Amino acid sequence: MPIYGYQCKKCSETFETLVRSGEQPTCPSCNSAELEQQLSLIASPAKGGDSDAPACSNAGAGPACAACPGASMFG
Ligand SMILES: [Zn+2]
Repeated sequence: MPIYGYQCKKCSETFETLVRSGEQPTCPSCNSAELEQQLSLIASPAKGGDSDAPACSNAGAGPACAACPGASMFG
């Protein structure tokens, strides 16, 4: 079950709660249902820099490398 983060519009309390479909969460501090749902932080993979070339250990092996997206253009 998903856990969502909320911020209460009344008392600014922030909390995370497990929300079942159809259920309205309420603030644990003031019991208000006027909540602002916080966007989940999406865990992004570590950035590999601005290069559009994939890190390929076979880079020196020529177009035969199947792991490289651009390899098919040679073939
Ligand atoms: Zn509150």
